[in-house]
Amino acid sequence: MRGASIGRGEPSGPASSVSLAACNTLGFAARARSFSEPDSIEAARQQVLAVQTANERLIVIGGGSNLVLLPWLDAHVMRPAFDALTIVPSQDGLSATVHVEAGRRWHDLVMTLASQGWWGLENLALIPGCCGAAPIQNIGAYGVELADHLLRLEVMSLEDGSCRWMSRDECQFGYRDSIFKGALEHRVLITRLELSVTREATPRLGYGDLVRRVSDAMSGELPTPLAVANAVIATRSEKLPDPAVLGNAGSFFKNPQLPAGQVEALLQRYPAMPHFVQADGSVKLAAGWLIDQCGLKGVRRDHVGIHSQQALVLVHFGGGQVSELLALAAEVRDAVVTRFGVTLEQEPRLLGAMPD
Ligand SMILES: Cc1cc2nc3c(=O)[nH]c(=O)nc-3n(C[C@H](O)[C@H](O)[C@H](O)COP(=O)(O)OP(=O)(O)OC[C@H]3O[C@@H](n4cnc5c(N)ncnc54)[C@H](O)[C@@H]3O)c2cc1C
Repeated sequence: MRGASIGRGEPSGPASSVSLAACNTLGFAARARSFSEPDSIEAARQQVLAVQTANERLIVIGGGSNLVLLPWLDAHVMRPAFDALTIVPSQDGLSATVHVEAGRRWHDLVMTLASQGWWGLENLALIPGCCGAAPIQNIGAYGVELADHLLRLEVMSLEDGSCRWMSRDECQFGYRDSIFKGALEHRVLITRLELSVTREATPRLGYGDLVRRVSDAMSGELPTPLAVANAVIATRSEKLPDPAVLGNAGSFFKNPQLPAGQVEALLQRYPAMPHFVQADGSVKLAAGWLIDQCGLKGVRRDHVGIHSQQALVLVHFGGGQVSELLALAAEVRDAVVTRFGVTLEQEPRLLGAMPD
């Protein structure tokens, strides 16, 4: 197990605290009581028990790409470093079960499978973060969600270190939602996932200009999962800022899902408003469009702003405070509710506390 190895020496928090600045893609300074990176599930269990004995709180993080960290986290922070991957083909070789541990980078998993010709996860290429965090908000992109391919997952209780498997139904997946944002929030560590993939060609190219990109790349040949993944990467790279260059946590707000009657009334006033009817009859709106209509795309407020290509992405230019970002998020929410009567819900998880 690697111990409290990340940077020390920032001003706030007790002397023995550790910096989490490198652990969140927004890049805000934050500190926690202590930190560990267990390199096996058994080492994680030992750490859970030690934290319990010390009567401290334990928070699990992954790549920090869906987090807004407040300056002080009064907790032990654990980042799983176990990342084993096994692909077990079925007897006829036409499908496979993928066993992957929490610490593996999600994008690495997608590219390993796509380059070996397995279909399933290719539309989810380039989503930052770790496999253990993927079920938390049921990651999704380009018409595919994790839940479409998850068979089951294993969780470890943060109370007593015991492990159990949960079926897909038990995870209560929804749009950017699961039981891990509700009843089980911060109560379990997701240790490993089992996913299904197939050799049967199942390209899903109905979003953006994936069809054009893939057909250009294949020049008449049938598409491959790798060609689809590369088309997704090219599309995303054009639209989304790279967190290594510009601090961000991806989409800052969920696309609101509203009753059909409310959307009809809005369409009377805004006929051009993009809207997507869902299987249950509700209608999803594009939060980015609503924000753009409020004239906020590309605005800058000191050290933070709204990305000029993508109104859903709040960015940190560096050197700022998390309070600036939260003030901008409140400004966006107020503008959208005033103009459209629609309340936006924040997507990244808020962790920690402001100093007294
Ligand atoms: C540029 C960019 C693009 C993005 N695009 C997309 C996208 O297209 N679709 C999408 O769905 N998301 C997207 N995201 C959001 C983010 O990448 C995903 O939500 C990702 O799954 C977060 O993984 P992480 O390891 O960084 O989690 P973290 O941010 O570290 O953690 C997120 C939450 O999960 C919890 N958690 C983390 N690991 C575990 C674990 N092993 N067990 C229990 N709890 C855990 C944490 O406590 C926290 O509450 C994007 C983010 C960025 C920065």
